[in-house]
Amino acid sequence: MTTTSRFSPAPAPAPARDLREKLRAAFPVTVTSDRPGYTREDWALLGRLGLLGASVPAELGGGGLSAVDTAAMFEVAGEVCHDTGMLFGAAAQLFACAMPLAEFRSTAVHERWLAAMCAGEAIAGNAMTEADAGSDTSRLATTATRVEGGHLLDGTKTWVSNGPVADVYLVYATTDPAARHLGITAFLVERADDGVHPGPAHDKAGLRSCPAGPLRLERCFVPDERTLGPAGAGAAVFGHSMSWERGCLFALYVGLQQRLLDRCVGHARQRRQFGQPIGQFQAVADRIVGMKMRLESGRLLLRRACEALDEGLPEAGWAAMAKLSISEGTVASALDAVNLLGGAGYLRDELVELVLRDSMPATIFSGTSDIQRRIVARELGL
Ligand SMILES: Cc1cc2nc3c(=O)[nH]c(=O)nc-3n(C[C@H](O)[C@H](O)[C@H](O)COP(=O)(O)OP(=O)(O)OC[C@H]3O[C@@H](n4cnc5c(N)ncnc54)[C@H](O)[C@@H]3O)c2cc1C
Repeated sequence: MTTTSRFSPAPAPAPARDLREKLRAAFPVTVTSDRPGYTREDWALLGRLGLLGASVPAELGGGGLSAVDTAAMFEVAGEVCHDTGMLFGAAAQLFACAMPLAEFRSTAVHERWLAAMCAGEAIAGNAMTEADAGSDTSRLATTATRVEGGHLLDGTKTWVSNGPVADVYLVYATTDPAARHLGITAFLVERADDGVHPGPAHDKAGLRSCPAGPLRLERCFVPDERTLGPAGAGAAVFGHSMSWERGCLFALYVGLQQRLLDRCVGHARQRRQFGQPIGQFQAVADRIVGMKMRLESGRLLLRRACEALDEGLPEAGWAAMAKLSISEGTVASALDAVNLLGGAGYLRDELVELVLRDSMPATIFSGTSDIQRRIVARELGL
């Protein structure tokens, strides 16, 4: 076994191999580390590289890849490109906006927006969370009131990733608060619609190049052709997006863990203290073994979740375990890497503390770690 050997049963698909060199060339470390935001040109490039439409069926403008192969693309991207914020924004658009559009589309306007997202010509944000509705998405305060030809949306969303710069939003609103989950409907809201007020970007610790912020909707008219899925099916639309997000987005963080591991192994072999490479100290080697185990167990769980998604089998438990293992594992491994590099690990130029800041929110978005544990516990009948 070499330092980088993997236990994955299959090699990365061809599109992922191509992506490695192209991303390296397009986003060199010095340009993209921790910058305040991505550009429209970056987005268009991600579209051309096939990341923004990877898992969308080819006839709808996407790459037509399976979940397993899509995850391989994002793993490679996470490993070679240090701009995790931009990649997170791309993944959030693909899994939480494009995939539900592909699945629940029924009109030409849905398909137009979907094709534009895949091509990198449009930026999209998923708007579920509210100030008082985070983990509990059944108590939305954003309302959708039926009017002639459509709905009027009122309310304020928060934490909309890509939101401050987005052209279009997948907004969840309730038509019947008492019906809780069954009263939620999904709508495609365009930035140009009257009554749409995207707020400024939150000042986040990490993922800084992906702007995330509030979205205020004031008597915003959304025509029926932009309702997504049947009335009251919003929870199902959101559930579909979370299956993809928990299954595939976290491949990005598997890539980050691989990058950290390679860096730490190299450092432990080269850095000498007390007359020998620090990797000869058992405490240092044990820390690296822990990193390797987190990486490979997360990678295998994610693969199982993606296979279930591809085979149409129940995937919620696998996706929750993959998300838990990878998000908590990346935070733990990033902390280990900071310690293993000593003082250098705390220098911003070394880009290791950046991984720690970029990985911390992974235990929160797509459902917190506590919520993933609840999903697994429920599957165990607890
Ligand atoms: C970087 C980032 C990007 C995001 N992007 C988006 C986005 O694009 N679109 C979007 O809609 N949202 C987005 N979010 C919001 C995210 O989904 C929520 O922050 C998350 O669901 C948690 O909600 P909350 O912050 O309100 O925390 P709360 O729900 O208030 O949770 C607070 C604490 O209570 C715990 N808790 C709550 N309920 C339970 C329970 N039943 N059992 C055990 N513990 C519980 C939680 O685990 C947590 O520790 C993003 C968040 C971040 C950090």
